[in-house]
Amino acid sequence: MAVPKSKVTRSRRGMRRSHHALAAGNPNECSNCGELRRPHHVCPACGHYGGREVVTTVEEVDLDDEAA
Ligand SMILES: [Zn+2]
Repeated sequence: MAVPKSKVTRSRRGMRRSHHALAAGNPNECSNCGELRRPHHVCPACGHYGGREVVTTVEEVDLDDEAA
């Protein structure tokens, strides 16, 4: 098994990890509702993609009315 020749200092470890941060996404505005959505993904707010509705979104359900 390969064994490290010497200890990696806190400084060197930190310098290596300075490149590990995740980059922010690149959201687009939905052409239907204006909500931010990921490129090449169905809009999570209205279910539109490519100018048409591909996923039906459920209207907000009031659970109190359902129980009555
Ligand atoms: Zn939308």
